[in-house]
Amino acid sequence: MAGLGMRELGYTGLKVSSLGFGASPLGNVFGTVKEEDAIASVNEAVRLGINFFDTSPYYGSTLSEQVLGKALKTLTIPRDRYVVSTKCGRYKEGFDFSAQRVTQSIDESLARLNLDYVDILQCHDIEFGSLDQIVNETIPALQKIKETGKIRYIGITGLPLNIFPYVLDRVPPGSVDVILSYCHYSINDSSLEDLLPYLKSKGVGVITASPFSMGLLTESGPPEWHPAPSELKAACAAAATHCKAKGKNISKLALQYSLKNTDISSVLVGMNSIQQVQENVAAAIEANKGQNIDDELLKEVEVIFSPVKNLSWPSGVTQN
Ligand code: NAD
Repeated sequence: MAGLGMRELGYTGLKVSSLGFGASPLGNVFGTVKEEDAIASVNEAVRLGINFFDTSPYYGSTLSEQVLGKALKTLTIPRDRYVVSTKCGRYKEGFDFSAQRVTQSIDESLARLNLDYVDILQCHDIEFGSLDQIVNETIPALQKIKETGKIRYIGITGLPLNIFPYVLDRVPPGSVDVILSYCHYSINDSSLEDLLPYLKSKGVGVITASPFSMGLLTESGPPEWHPAPSELKAACAAAATHCKAKGKNISKLALQYSLKNTDISSVLVGMNSIQQVQENVAAAIEANKGQNIDDELLKEVEVIFSPVKNLSWPSGVTQN
């Protein structure tokens, strides 16, 4: 569909929609979602031009993969018209980045997703494991899986930004195709920006997630488990209230902010209803048309965020 914008994903040859469908809500991570709503959301996303779906066995203890799998089965477009990414190494039971576990994991994921292959398999939240194991054991295991055709490309994900250069500087060039960074390219935290030239020099595709900072930049606010410090939560609530008082929506502003950097191939948003899909696609189309994001509102919101700008929270084991 014209307008949503397709972007190259690094050197993979994949073209992904600038707005990607984050399937973690399908695992009931942000509250219960009816299966029929989940399936309808995925179909609506495809109808409106979204071609990129991201999940993990961790989301809802495999529920997200199962529900996404059911939804993908209802699609009438050929398999090569959409891109599916899942993850390995993070499970309900804990973290396990061993070669044996990730090799078993992809078969389990493919069965749940009803697919013969996924386009991208990513090591999920590697800051919770040993980064040296990722370099020396997990990535080589994923290379072997790639040779079987069960996956096409390899990625790594996590919150702290230093994990990306640590791994990318130690693996053979071309063995990691994409990185997924979350909560570091939104209005309140844009710290990924400084790393983008390095990532480009390494030839990896960049996916960002959580333009709403996992629900912080929404009118209804974050889920109870949200790890942000209280001063950040308070600033986000104040920003949402400010936007609402002006008849504007913080989520629309937040999404358009994240989409404006074309060095980012796709911005993943967690979606769980047709209405959310339609709203987000409309915001993305507007942003891609070059219709300016509301600069005046953005400036006002940035003032509210200035005391907490780039404030994050700890994630992972301390040696990382
Ligand atoms: P998000 O910032 O996208 O926020 C999701 C929340 O916003 C959900 O509650 C959703 O219902 C709500 N929402 C969606 N559209 C809305 C709208 N228009 N108005 C108001 N609320 C709206 O956070 P997320 O879901 O955590 O991130 C997106 C996706 O990125 C995930 O589903 C996942 O696929 C991926 N992700 C990956 C990692 C990782 O690999 N470590 C981490 C975070 C996210």
